[in-house]
Amino acid sequence: MPEPGPPYRPGRRVLRGWGRTAPTAADVVLPADEARVAELLADPPPGTGVVPRGLGRSYGDAAQCAGGTVVDLAQLDWVGGIDEATGEVEVGAGASLQRLLEHALPRGWFLPVTPGTRLVTVGGAVAADVHGKNHHRDGSFARHVTALTLATPNGVRHLVPGRRGRGAAKAEDDALFWATAGGMGLTGVVTRATVRLLPVETDRMLVDTDRYDDLGAVMAAMESGDDGYRYSVAWVDCTATGRHTGRAVLTRGDHARREDLPARRREGLPRAPGTSRLRIPRPGPRHLLNPLTVAAFNELWFRHAPRHRVAEVLPLAGFFHPLDGVADWNLLYGERGFLQYQFVVADGDVVARAIDQLAANRVPSFLAVLKRFGPGTPGPLSFPTPGWTLALDVPMGPPALGALLDRIDEMVAEAGGRVYLAKDARLRPDLVRTMYPRLDELQHVRRRVDPAGVLRSDLSRRLGLDLDRKEP
Ligand SMILES: Cc1cc2nc3c(=O)[nH]c(=O)nc-3n(C[C@H](O)[C@H](O)[C@H](O)COP(=O)(O)OP(=O)(O)OC[C@H]3O[C@@H](n4cnc5c(N)ncnc54)[C@H](O)[C@@H]3O)c2cc1C
Repeated sequence: MPEPGPPYRPGRRVLRGWGRTAPTAADVVLPADEARVAELLADPPPGTGVVPRGLGRSYGDAAQCAGGTVVDLAQLDWVGGIDEATGEVEVGAGASLQRLLEHALPRGWFLPVTPGTRLVTVGGAVAADVHGKNHHRDGSFARHVTALTLATPNGVRHLVPGRRGRGAAKAEDDALFWATAGGMGLTGVVTRATVRLLPVETDRMLVDTDRYDDLGAVMAAMESGDDGYRYSVAWVDCTATGRHTGRAVLTRGDHARREDLPARRREGLPRAPGTSRLRIPRPGPRHLLNPLTVAAFNELWFRHAPRHRVAEVLPLAGFFHPLDGVADWNLLYGERGFLQYQFVVADGDVVARAIDQLAANRVPSFLAVLKRFGPGTPGPLSFPTPGWTLALDVPMGPPALGALLDRIDEMVAEAGGRVYLAKDARLRPDLVRTMYPRLDELQHVRRRVDPAGVLRSDLSRRLGLDLDRKEP
């Protein structure tokens, strides 16, 4: 019987990503502290390899290692005190962003970057170098990490990016830090991180909403206006065709200040959103989500959105993490699961062509997410690069889906873009090198800290990223 989800018990378990498409079995270990993690990597168990795992919110096979060992960081979930002068907080890598928020928000601090769910760990956020709706302004998660502790097969390293100093050791530490940020767990196990938080006055957002009838209009509005907002995201209807292709609802905003709230709401401390009580008990029926039901949902949702609304005060959770309202919502996609597909590309025409093809092929995708990225980090495997990023969920099943996504991948790669590995379950290995042209730098760093090639995952195996395995 597959495990329902984290936290796992130690022992041989069947693990899946959030999309539930590629289950494999591995030995799960739950180290009690950092010393145990260090010991495990210094003397790895026999098997096909070792990979860390957070809350399993990556969609594909990144936190799995068939026949190997999966290091679940659930017990390293402590949160330290916040330095009120700098906003820095030290946390265990297994702490979730939910937990960090519960600690930080009542003290007037928010996450510098948050993905679309707060149910990811700090370790997972570093390893995928996650982005939020503020990438165009604040960059990705690793930009706000001021120190990391990383357990590797060659010992424990304390890494401080940008620390003053010169010489080979300093350059090596910087290279290891940036290879780890976005490195999908392939450089070692992050055991703790120091994160610089963002000061906020309230737990509300001040949001402007605009509805656009086609893709060109929403992209023009984002290009001309996003810089005026900290957060921006467009929800695109990829099932609409003809002159409505790419119609979208754009929401943009920033944290509300006390004076933005009605007088009765100004007092009291900001509160973190709670965890959901709503659950999906079991996988949904096979044909629940099909081109007709999804298009009908998208139509209703689009009509319901206001054409133009300004300064609406919204709770944080609804703005940042609408999907966290229902636990296990991924089960709605049924036993076969679903793919999340996300790419980034500088050329907006490529996004338009991809949406055209998805709509023309009647791919049943719920609202896709369109965002603009600013400059990336020095990480060779970090996903964000300047341009447009489109992300969509697609149920597994339509026979032509694989070939269609392959064609979009090729188009994206040819235009200098890339697919996000934290979401991926299907990319062709020959395209990875084109999409991530600095892979050799990553492998060079990995050989230094993991000469026997212990760190590996189903994703690294599938994409041909494994180092040669040497028996110790
Ligand atoms: C609803 C939803 C919305 C999302 N929205 C966004 C979004 O807006 N932006 C975005 O960037 N991502 C988004 N994601 C993806 C998610 O943020 C990333 O996949 C994140 O890595 C998941 O963290 P996790 O703790 O669940 O890690 P896991 O999924 O368990 O692992 C992910 C990767 O991190 C590695 N890893 C985990 N812990 C450690 C550690 N301690 N040390 C080293 N490596 C480690 C694993 O080996 C694996 O390669 C979303 C996911 C969901 C389900």
